[in-house]
Amino acid sequence: MTECIICDEQAKLLPNIHIDGDRFKCPRCGAFEISGSLVAVLRQKGTEYTADQVAKLSSWVRYQNMRGEIPCKMLTVADYDYITAMPIPEISDRINRLLAFVAGCQPSLGQTFNMKDPALIAVSYSKNGVEVDRLLHSLIESCLIAKTDREDHAEITPAGYMRCEELHAR
Ligand SMILES: [Zn+2]
Repeated sequence: MTECIICDEQAKLLPNIHIDGDRFKCPRCGAFEISGSLVAVLRQKGTEYTADQVAKLSSWVRYQNMRGEIPCKMLTVADYDYITAMPIPEISDRINRLLAFVAGCQPSLGQTFNMKDPALIAVSYSKNGVEVDRLLHSLIESCLIAKTDREDHAEITPAGYMRCEELHAR
């Protein structure tokens, strides 16, 4: 185990198939390749590498993985500049993305998901688990998800599935 170069979660460093770059599998970001130059840039940045930038890169990788690109194509310094220049989506969008993700993981009614899954941080452009908790709380308040008896687990309500169908139809 090692620390993910993007988000610092405990991650796996996979065998290096490239001359210049690393391959990570992270519970938050997903699987990605990163160029040696970008690794060096991120290591050098220290406090200049902000939580917002981490959230953007982490989400980027996660969404590429969800589109079937596993691992995500090699991230370069140019990708870093492009990705971190984009704005973080609005709160309503982040809540919808979170709901769509957890609903997509559950093929049928009544199944539960783990609210502490680090992937939820990435799909909702959050900086940490505390932000995810706030977004999940909003989904609970709107009765789109409901807590279950199992600790840290919730399920999508029928209203939650209906919301997902509406979002999908847009
Ligand atoms: Zn990561």
